[in-house]
Amino acid sequence: MRLDKFLSHMGYGTRREVKILVKSKAIQVNEAVVKDSSMHVNEFKDKVTVYGEVVEYKEFIYLMMNKPPGVVSATEDSRDQTVVDLLDDDVRHFDPYPVGRLDKDTVGLLLLTNDGALTHRLLSPNKDVPKVYYAKVEGVVDESDITAFSNGVILDDGYHTKPGILNIIKSGPISEIELSITEGKFHQVKRMFESVGKKVVYLKRLSMGTLLLDSSLAEGTYRELTEEELEQIQ
Ligand code: URA
Repeated sequence: MRLDKFLSHMGYGTRREVKILVKSKAIQVNEAVVKDSSMHVNEFKDKVTVYGEVVEYKEFIYLMMNKPPGVVSATEDSRDQTVVDLLDDDVRHFDPYPVGRLDKDTVGLLLLTNDGALTHRLLSPNKDVPKVYYAKVEGVVDESDITAFSNGVILDDGYHTKPGILNIIKSGPISEIELSITEGKFHQVKRMFESVGKKVVYLKRLSMGTLLLDSSLAEGTYRELTEEELEQIQ
């Protein structure tokens, strides 16, 4: 790979900016000062440093975000702030995008990556990746809802959902539940409750497959996945 491409990918600016770094003798490859930004490097073997700092190559980025309310799960939006707007430059240059969507008012676990193959595996409808949501629901959620969800419910457009596993945490005028579903239809959790005459008033995603929301992440913050999380989610 060309050195300027390598460094641009790793967030050291445009090729032009890398050229300027080369001119100022800031870059070394295998301890030798670089003279030509178009030189080729082996991104996995060569030791590249910028101002003495080693640059470890990575192709993909994997971020776990605790999505806050009021922000859309997109890379660009003409009206609203997006989840990508919440990222710092040091990860943004990898061009991560959200894997699937959460509604603007939904909070919780959102994975952002630039790894298309992983995205495809996680979102593929026949992979049945379970997603667990915590919700507050207006109305008394009871056994009849557990049964209805376990058989799949009919949404407003006639779609018959796959079974969902409903756990009631608290039943009352505002019930609290956890729901595990394997699909990701538009507004699915809200529409599943609508089909049994109830309204979701708060929705938070807790997990996606093996990936669990890190409870130490405040809303609006994110971190890279650990190696263990990454291995498990593959
Ligand atoms: N189901 C919904 O209704 N909304 C979400 O954001 C996610 C799942």
